Amino acid sequence: MTTTPAAALTQLKGIGPRLREKLGRLGIDSVQDLLFHLPMRYQDRTTLHDIGSLRIGSEVVVQGRVLDCRVHFGRRRSLLTRIDDDTGSLTMRMFHFSRSQQNNLERGAFVRCFGEVRRGPRSLEMVHPEYTVFGDVPPPLESGGFTPVYPATEGLSQNHLRKLIDQALARVDEVAEELLPASLLAANRFPAIGDALRQLHHPDSAAEAGGMLAQNHPARVRLAFEELLAHHLAAWQSRRRRETLNATAVTASGALWRQLESRLGFDLTGAQQRAIAEIRADLERGTPAHRLVQGDVGSGKTLVCAAACLDVIESGCQAAVMAPTEILAEQHLANFRKWLQPLGVHVTALLGRQGARERRAALEAVRTGVAQLVVGTHALFQDEVAFEKLALIVVDEQHRFGVMQRFALREKGRHNGAVPHQVTMTATPIPRSLAMSLYAEMDVTTIDELPPGRTPVDTVVLPASRRDDVLARIRDACARGEQVYWVCPVIEESETLEVQAAADTAEALAAALPGIGVGLVHGRMKTADKEVVMQRFRAGELALLVATTVIEVGVDVPNASLMVIENAERLGLSQLHQLRGRVGRGARRSYCVLLYRAPLGEVARERLSIMKRSNDGFEIARKDLELRGPGEIMGTRQTGMQRMMVADLMRDAAMLPAVRKAAAEIVDKHPERAAPIIGRWVKSEMELANV
Ligand code: ADP
Ligand code: MG
Repeated sequence: MTTTPAAALTQLKGIGPRLREKLGRLGIDSVQDLLFHLPMRYQDRTTLHDIGSLRIGSEVVVQGRVLDCRVHFGRRRSLLTRIDDDTGSLTMRMFHFSRSQQNNLERGAFVRCFGEVRRGPRSLEMVHPEYTVFGDVPPPLESGGFTPVYPATEGLSQNHLRKLIDQALARVDEVAEELLPASLLAANRFPAIGDALRQLHHPDSAAEAGGMLAQNHPARVRLAFEELLAHHLAAWQSRRRRETLNATAVTASGALWRQLESRLGFDLTGAQQRAIAEIRADLERGTPAHRLVQGDVGSGKTLVCAAACLDVIESGCQAAVMAPTEILAEQHLANFRKWLQPLGVHVTALLGRQGARERRAALEAVRTGVAQLVVGTHALFQDEVAFEKLALIVVDEQHRFGVMQRFALREKGRHNGAVPHQVTMTATPIPRSLAMSLYAEMDVTTIDELPPGRTPVDTVVLPASRRDDVLARIRDACARGEQVYWVCPVIEESETLEVQAAADTAEALAAALPGIGVGLVHGRMKTADKEVVMQRFRAGELALLVATTVIEVGVDVPNASLMVIENAERLGLSQLHQLRGRVGRGARRSYCVLLYRAPLGEVARERLSIMKRSNDGFEIARKDLELRGPGEIMGTRQTGMQRMMVADLMRDAAMLPAVRKAAAEIVDKHPERAAPIIGRWVKSEMELANV
């Protein structure tokens, strides 16, 4: 944060250590931070609304005459006051009330109240509205424009926040420096920073407040632009910093990889070949690579990464593959053993299921460099793990790892001043322009082609009441010698209940499907037990595997041709697509049944119909972005990209080319402004991510 001396919080009235701590929780550490703590919405206390025309969810001022006021003894005692304004009536509901309040609200009194309109059991309601009782003369309405509503925190009221922010606003021109070049402001007709902030905190008309919320007001657009610019500059700086680090320049002839390639029995797709070439070019450089390989489930990302690992191993260094779950790590281990061991490569695992002796041996092999490829979960960067010469880390599904974990692994690989290269695989592909912004500090490779011969999965959407039809399908599939997944995703807050639900389902299915071997895996099982079940399923001893979403990624059983997903309406698009990607891996026709519990909400209906229509991960990711927004998808907090305050990558995507251009201009002509722009918008979590 840039804290100019004049901008320390203590310069404002009434700020002691306790308040500073609360403000800190909101990310407010300076007067400038207060100015950039922007309203989520506005309250309109300037107009009186007719009760007859209220919309559920709106926050409005109404007034009327009290029809009756009584204490209601329901589940909770409450005071119900019904008021009427000739257009309709509304109930004020209060759970906490005093005798004198009750006396004040007697029949015939006039009341003005402000609150959120809700649907009550009998009529519209306001719960604990702000209200005043008046005689014949109604009190004047507020004229001071719209009241901002801020993100708040425990023990810090809206009113208190408003007063603090207003104090800061009084000094806005001195505290919030104009950091955008004049030419940029002029070209885009952006308001000056001080004006933009004043308008955002206190819009002076309904139209203006509406524009702020619809995000098309120039003040809002200007701030969104500046925020995107800040993130871009931060990513650019972190890339620059990375380029000052050293990494082992990998020099390999590619002979080891060619051996594997010739044994595969299939040809690589053009997209895979391009991806390998790009990673190779990265590895040859003496600075650490940081590349994202994105591609649909089954597009062959793992094999691409295996090629990179083999180059590294051929050059005499170690490679590590890090998976987000033990099951996925096991799957990678099986693949890499199958691929690399015949070439004489030593593959080692660091997994939770290992006993003390096995683990010691693995650690020793990693430390001495005997282990050339190491597969594991985040257990890879525990303190006791030391690599002999780690030159490449392959991370699968990066959004599941925290910033600190990835940072720790990079540090772990530090060796004679060199840090390892990093390649990340993700099956949640996003459009390129978005990737360039979200992941601006990385290079992005997109595998946009599936191996030939994949049959698209036929998807049907059924209400849970059609369970019998689904059982019939399972019997048919098993009779043909095929295998089936049955997924019970999280429907309860508690993992215990989830596990219980899966266990009950497995039992019920076993009873309903005599003669069919049913297995169960869930997140609470010991890794070894899980692995036994998975192994039996892979070997075909079990025909039906009931699972919680632990099988979401990476399980590869080509003989599985049917997947049933219960409570599909609760899952996001990307997750559904990843799950569905577990079938359709063999040559035979595959099916996915999405079972839902009626009634379906609008978004859930849309999601399921997209799943039915499309098998294309890119299209599905695009729809997912539309329905959810990028923050949620990327788990931005975890990738180290904080949630945007004003900007929205989806909505503001059209701005990105201009933002990139502006960033180049700042770097070129006003380099001294980069740090203050970043400091204004990007908090320390991001700085940490960029170490
Ligand atoms: P991803 O990691 O992208 O989901 P994988 O690398 O796990 O995909 O590949 C899925 C399956 O397809 C694996 O069994 C793999 O061996 C196989 N595969 C990979 N590339 C090809 C290809 N070019 N042609 C045929 N099969 C392939
Ligand atoms: Mg995979």
